Amino acid sequence: MSQTPKFNPARAMQLHEIERWDIETDVAVVGFGGAGSCAAIEAARAGASVQVFEAFSAAGGSTALSGGEVYLGGSGGTPVQLKFGFADSTEDLFNYLMMQHAPQGDEAKIRAYAEGAAAHFDWLVQQGVPFKESFLDERVVEPMTDDCLIYSGNEKAWPEVAHCKPAPRGHAVQMEGMGAGAVLMQHLERVALEAGVHAHYDCRALCLIVDDQGAVAGLVVRQDGRELAVRARGGVVLCAGGFVMNEEMLRQYAPQLLRGNNPIGNPGDTGAGIQMGLSVGGLAINMHEGFFSLPFYPPSTLTYGIIVNDKGQRFINEDAYHGRVGTEILAQASERYYFIVDVDAYGSYEALNFMAADVVATGDSVEELEQELGLPARTLVNTLETYNRFAAQGEDPLCHKQPEWLRPLETPLVALDVTPGRGAFYPYFTLGGLDTLPSGEVRKADGSLVPGLYAAGRTAAGVPRRGRGYNSGISVGDATFSGRQAGIAAAKRAGCGSGPLWERRPAAN
Ligand SMILES: Cc1cc2nc3c(=O)[nH]c(=O)nc-3n(C[C@H](O)[C@H](O)[C@H](O)COP(=O)(O)OP(=O)(O)OC[C@H]3O[C@@H](n4cnc5c(N)ncnc54)[C@H](O)[C@@H]3O)c2cc1C
Repeated sequence: MSQTPKFNPARAMQLHEIERWDIETDVAVVGFGGAGSCAAIEAARAGASVQVFEAFSAAGGSTALSGGEVYLGGSGGTPVQLKFGFADSTEDLFNYLMMQHAPQGDEAKIRAYAEGAAAHFDWLVQQGVPFKESFLDERVVEPMTDDCLIYSGNEKAWPEVAHCKPAPRGHAVQMEGMGAGAVLMQHLERVALEAGVHAHYDCRALCLIVDDQGAVAGLVVRQDGRELAVRARGGVVLCAGGFVMNEEMLRQYAPQLLRGNNPIGNPGDTGAGIQMGLSVGGLAINMHEGFFSLPFYPPSTLTYGIIVNDKGQRFINEDAYHGRVGTEILAQASERYYFIVDVDAYGSYEALNFMAADVVATGDSVEELEQELGLPARTLVNTLETYNRFAAQGEDPLCHKQPEWLRPLETPLVALDVTPGRGAFYPYFTLGGLDTLPSGEVRKADGSLVPGLYAAGRTAAGVPRRGRGYNSGISVGDATFSGRQAGIAAAKRAGCGSGPLWERRPAAN
C-alpha cells in the first residue's frame, strides 16, 4: 500500500498547522547553487537577514559542476570583449537572445538581461570571480585552458549570422581545464557567508507554508532528522535547480529528453522547487523544453563533415552550436543519423572527442558507404555530389553552413552513428520552470502573483527557453543574474533595500 509522505513539496502546509516557528528570517533561500548564492548575497547586502537551506553537505549544485561559462555582453562590451575589439551593443545582445528563444522567449527578461549583462560581469569580478583577459578563437564546448572569451553559441552560424552582429559572449571563469564552475561557486559561497548569510547544509526544504490569503509565510525544512518551521517575513526564494533527475516529471513534461543518455545536473535536480511553487498556485511554463546536445566538437574539424538522416539527406548546417544540432536531431522524423567525415577529420576525432559515437561504416567510394549504411540507392551519393559541388565554391545553398567550414569531402569516408540511443553522448537538462517576472516574483495562471514567493535559476523559466537557441553560458548567466533580482525583491518585501537591480543601471548604449 502506498503511503503519502507527511511532507511533500507538492503539498503546502497551512499556516494554522504550524505550532511554532523554529527559525525566523527576512528571506529564506532554498538551494545554495548559482541562483541561491546570488539571491542570498543581494538580499543580505540590502540589509535583510538571510538563511539558506541546502540539501547537500556543500554549496555548489549544478553550477559547481558546470564549465563556469557565463554568457555576457551588451552595454558596449565587457572589458574582455573590448580588449579584443568586440564592441557589443545592448541591442545586438537583445536581438540575438530574442532570436534564439523565439517564440517562447520572455521579452521583459531578455531586455533586463541584455541591459544588465555587462554590469553583471563587473559584479562577478567584484565578488572575486577570476576571468583571464584572453580570447580563444576555437570551436570548443568550453576552454580546456584557463582562457576566457569564446564564441559559445550560434553567433557565427546561419540564420543568426544573417540577422545579428556576431560577438563572442561566452566568458569562462579562469581555471586550467574544464569545470570552472567550482571556482565560481567557491567565490559566491564565500561572499555570501561574508555578507552575513546563515547557511544550513544537509538541510532539505520539504514544503512551503501558506497563509489563509495564499501568501507564502515560510517553509518546512528537515535538519538532523527534525522538521523545522521557518518563518520568512519577506519571502521564500526557490533556487532548487531544475528537474532533470526526476524521471517521473520528465515523462510527464518533457519525455523527448529521455532519448538522451546523460542527464546532466546534480542529484538535487528533482524538481522540488517547481513542485513547491505549483503547490501554492504558481504556474509552471515551458516545461517541455530542454538543452539536448550532441557535443561533436572539439575537434572542430568534424564541422567539415555532414550529418545525414536515414534518407541520406542533410537537415542542418553543421557549424551550428552542438545544442542546436542535438535538438534538431530530436525534431527530425528519422530512424538513424550519421556523421559523415573524411579520414583527416576522423583522425582528429580519434585523438579527442566527447561524442563517443561508433564507426558503423567506411567506404572508399560514396556508393560503398551508402550501401554499408543500408541507405536507399543514390541518396547519399546525390547529397554528397550536391554538397561537394557547392562546397568547392564556398557555398551551401541548402543548409547555409558558412564558407569557413566548407570543403568538399574526399573519399575514403567514415560514418559515425549519432542516432540517440545508440551510444553517442547526448547530455540534457531542463529549461522549464515557474513563471516569474524579471524580479523573480512567481506568477499564477491568471497573471496575479503569489505573495512572498520568488524563484530563480532553473527552478524558473528564465532567459534560456529553447534547446534550439541555447548557448553555453546562458544558464549560469541567467541563474546568477535572476538570483540577484529575486534576492533584492524578497529583501524589499521585508522592508530592506530599494528595488530591482536593472532599474538602477546607467542607461545602456
Ligand atoms: C556538467 C555541466 C556543465 C555545465 N556547463 C555549463 C556552463 O558552462 N555554462 C552554463 O551556463 N550552464 C552550464 N551548465 C548548466 C548550469 O550549470 C545549470 O543549469 C545552472 O548552474 C543551474 O543553476 P541553479 O542555481 O538553478 O541550480 P544549482 O546550481 O543546481 O543549485 C540548486 C541547489 O539547490 C539544492 N536543492 C535542490 N532541492 C533542494 C531542496 N529541496 N532543499 C534544499 N536544497 C535543494 C541543490 O542541492 C543545489 O545545490 C552545465 C551543467 C552541467 C551539469
